[in-house]
Amino acid sequence: MRDPLDVLRTVFGFEAFRGHQAEIVDHVVAGGEALVLMPTGGGKSLCYQVPALCREGVAVVVSPLIALMKDQVEALRQLGVRAAALNSSLAWDEATAVQDAMRRGDIDLVYVAPERLLTDGFLNLLERCRISLFAIDEAHCVSQWGHDFRPEYLKLAILHERFPSVPRVALTATADGPTRRDIVERLQLGDGRIFVAGFDRPNIRYRIVPKTDPLRQLDAFIRTEHPGDSGIVYCMSRKDVESTADWLVGKGHNAIPYHAGLDAAVRGRNQDRFLKDDKVIVVATVAFGMGIDKPDVRFVAHLDAPRSLEAYYQETGRAGRDGLASDAWMLYGIADVTRQLRFVEASNAPDAQKRVERQKLDALLGFCETARCRRQVLLEYFADSCAPCGNCDTCLEPPEVYDGTELAQKVLSTVYRTGQRFGVTHIIDVLRGSAGEKIAKFGHDTVSTFGIGKDVAAKEWRSIVRQLVAAGLLVVDTEGHGGLALSPDCRPVLRGERRVDLRRERAVKVRRELRDRDLGGADSGLFDALRSKRMELAKAQGVPPYVIFHDSTLAEMARTRPITIDALGRIQGVGRAKLERYGDAFLEVIGEAG
Ligand code: ADP
Ligand code: ZN
Repeated sequence: MRDPLDVLRTVFGFEAFRGHQAEIVDHVVAGGEALVLMPTGGGKSLCYQVPALCREGVAVVVSPLIALMKDQVEALRQLGVRAAALNSSLAWDEATAVQDAMRRGDIDLVYVAPERLLTDGFLNLLERCRISLFAIDEAHCVSQWGHDFRPEYLKLAILHERFPSVPRVALTATADGPTRRDIVERLQLGDGRIFVAGFDRPNIRYRIVPKTDPLRQLDAFIRTEHPGDSGIVYCMSRKDVESTADWLVGKGHNAIPYHAGLDAAVRGRNQDRFLKDDKVIVVATVAFGMGIDKPDVRFVAHLDAPRSLEAYYQETGRAGRDGLASDAWMLYGIADVTRQLRFVEASNAPDAQKRVERQKLDALLGFCETARCRRQVLLEYFADSCAPCGNCDTCLEPPEVYDGTELAQKVLSTVYRTGQRFGVTHIIDVLRGSAGEKIAKFGHDTVSTFGIGKDVAAKEWRSIVRQLVAAGLLVVDTEGHGGLALSPDCRPVLRGERRVDLRRERAVKVRRELRDRDLGGADSGLFDALRSKRMELAKAQGVPPYVIFHDSTLAEMARTRPITIDALGRIQGVGRAKLERYGDAFLEVIGEAG
């Protein structure tokens, strides 16, 4: 058996295991079973890839998505590992060749979709192979509690019955308590060990910005902070996806749309462009991202608030898998949340489920309106914790908190006096004494609070109303058109018995130090030259650039400027196979930079 650390160094070019990796790898190499919970970018793949290379035989990796398989297999081949995928996109003779190789023991890892794995033909083939281990990726798909249930996954328990001596390792990035228990039970992993890494993604900077002029705000964000970077922009509707992508293109950005309504061929082409080009922005509905393993997504922007904090964590988690600094940037307005609430109320779901959905939206709203560290609030939602992070908007520019009792009272009485059925815009019009048609129609220029809030900007009032909703003092009527009503909790506030603290909206500053932080003082000209070389090599093979080297590897090259093959081989991510294939090409670029 090969030594795991030796495999890590020579094949993958990494110096040391991270976090729980060493423990997990040792456990699996010794034939133990495991459930691995690790955040995206935590390094789950190595937990089965290294054991696969240490143990005798072929490792069978169950993966639900063809796109994901293709990427993983390409990345492994670049490392000189004998890997293949078996899925419906393969021609018959190609599939036969892979199966023959498996029987001969000429393959180290084979990726397969659950449907195929569970066919009699494939199970019989496996009987005739030597199997090193089963890896079950995206294991949360087995659970009905998870967000991505796949019925085929339920049948995977059969592996344990037919191949009791082959160790299994199940992996996922998302599993709360109930989902975790479900996975263990359904896969019969009861005798295995559970490894849980924290949920934190320290390299992601969380920021939430009040929505005022979404397209212009987005353009400014990309232009000033992420010129030439890859990113994902999430919108709620297909129509918004189309119009936002068009608008970005009009502004000179390299943007493409992606949503389930597009033709499959167009979708495939756009996804491919996103993976293989260096600088593409995908504008998408949430349908996009599952199974996108691109490590160098530098920002995820939400133009609309997501459905829940789980969804937010998932979607923003697609940024910065490579561990380099990345942005999660969200625009948010109260209308997003009321729209979501309306969806919940209008659905045919049973009451119990609606209640859960409402709680999820409350948690999301609380996160958006918090004056605390965003990361703390997010992690606490997943029963995890951290110290104030120093890498979110509230840590970087702590919001000013002030006694807003009087302002709150003004809002609450206006809501009360206008009959508890008008939305935020109308309430603000009354407060600011605006002379609108609607005001006249309802005679609201005669209510006693008319015009008492002239001195506060409409934008600030919006923020106050959002905070009152988040604090549960106002409730949004979701049957009608998002009218605001008082909750019983606001009585002590109106009577002056309870103080309300509010957070002041800040002017949002722009930051541009992200990339500089990563380059750690390295020459950005050399970094760009290394990137161009990588793109040239990738294009020639028709593979995504990151399967050749990650940005972090190129950044280290630019920083340390190795001039010998040996020195180049000591850089993180440069294993033996890649050194042989690409070493000279990159040394030449470094040499030319002088
Ligand atoms: P996950 O599947 O958990 O999202 P990956 O397995 O794709 O994460 O790993 C995320 C990134 O971290 C990859 O770029 C991988 O090469 C890198 N990585 C993983 N383990 C190590 C390690 N021990 N040393 C250096 N880089 C690592
Ligand atoms: Zn923070």
